Amino acid sequence: DHDRSGELYRRACEVMPACVNSPVRAFRSVGGEPMFYERGEGCFVIDEDGNRYADYVCSWGPLILGHAHPDVVDAVATAAASGLSFGAPCRQEVELAEIVTSAAPHLEMVRFVSSGTEAVMSAVRLARGATGRDTVVKFTGCYHGHADHLLVSAGSGLATFGTPSSDGVPESFARHTVVLPLDDEQAFVELMGDRGNEIAAVIIEGVPANSGLLIQTPDYMQLVRDECTRHGALLILDEVITGFRLGPNGAAGLYGVVPDLATYGKVIGGGMPVGAYGGSRDLMEKLAPLGPVYQAGTLSGNPVAMAAGIATLRTLLADGGSAYARLEELGARLEKGIARVFDEDNLPWSVVRVGSILWLALQDGEPPRRFEDIESACVETYAALHVALLERGVSLAPSAYEVMFVSLAHDEVVIDATIEAFQEAVEEIT
Ligand SMILES: *Cc1c(COP(=O)(O)O)cnc(C)c1O
Repeated sequence: DHDRSGELYRRACEVMPACVNSPVRAFRSVGGEPMFYERGEGCFVIDEDGNRYADYVCSWGPLILGHAHPDVVDAVATAAASGLSFGAPCRQEVELAEIVTSAAPHLEMVRFVSSGTEAVMSAVRLARGATGRDTVVKFTGCYHGHADHLLVSAGSGLATFGTPSSDGVPESFARHTVVLPLDDEQAFVELMGDRGNEIAAVIIEGVPANSGLLIQTPDYMQLVRDECTRHGALLILDEVITGFRLGPNGAAGLYGVVPDLATYGKVIGGGMPVGAYGGSRDLMEKLAPLGPVYQAGTLSGNPVAMAAGIATLRTLLADGGSAYARLEELGARLEKGIARVFDEDNLPWSVVRVGSILWLALQDGEPPRRFEDIESACVETYAALHVALLERGVSLAPSAYEVMFVSLAHDEVVIDATIEAFQEAVEEIT
């Protein structure tokens, strides 16, 4: 039953809009009411009514070691016992910064903030300050958090001004953002040819994973890199999902692309609120107090959040990268199993995967590379699948556009049970 969750839901809706603190959690796109979780154990979450689910949300990516990993819990508890925050330098900041900068050769320096949104917002400000230009280019289907100038969608006609994608974002802000389709070399080269000298930064997700999983080709990523260099625009690689998930050097390592600035969040905080942005010393020293670009944070780099990040990254990076081989193995097993279920039922659906990130493309044909190629009909199918899987103890993200995350706490047993649940669920809904 869901009595306790139901009771909390009703109380929550009185005091929080749609009962939540972040919109997708409200289950609006899959129907039903969200469960309230009481605890997490490894790859499982347990709701207030004691129902247990194999978790493929993993707090939307951060929990790459699974829930309540003992090393992370210990590190957080130890740090907390010595003070939650000083608003002054602490050892943990240095340690985490050293880990992050040694994993990615293009990062000479980083600055920690408290969310991915903040990391991206600050990186964009730094890019504008460093170039003396105002315009930012982003791509449809990429999410970069909720800073005003990135809550923008394409205006009418390519390469025109963007329009706000949320009320409350002034038109005049959106005018500084240009939105292009992904995987469209011509549109990008044309834009850079026409307006390259006004563009401060081009921002792209390491692997776009917020509207399906839109895997870009290495050639396209390199073209974006080269065009930025040619026109003096900075390339910001948004590694908030991909950083330390795909490997020590994230998507930059996967594609062999070297960004000017990179942004981090999710995994680097191991479940605590941490974001970071970084790049060359030259660029990073444009930040206050050394330089003219202002950015600050009361809780930035607090020892407790840093401790969670350090424990998470140390575990991930121990043993020469065997953790990533394991994530690849688990991801591949889940991908193959679900694909086999779709195949046996003669469904034209596919499973898109990069490492431990998977997405169900519930549509015909090749996996899409552009947001525009995702068919909206998949939303209804996904909603049915989501419910059928929850009933079988498998928790997927409550939106067709969201990906699945596998953690190191998942194992063959839970993955095979998940595949079996898929088999039953798919048969039920088709
Ligand atoms: C989650 C995400 C963000 C925003 O991070 P928050 O911590 O939610 O503010 C930014 N960029 C990407 C690619 C993300 O996936």
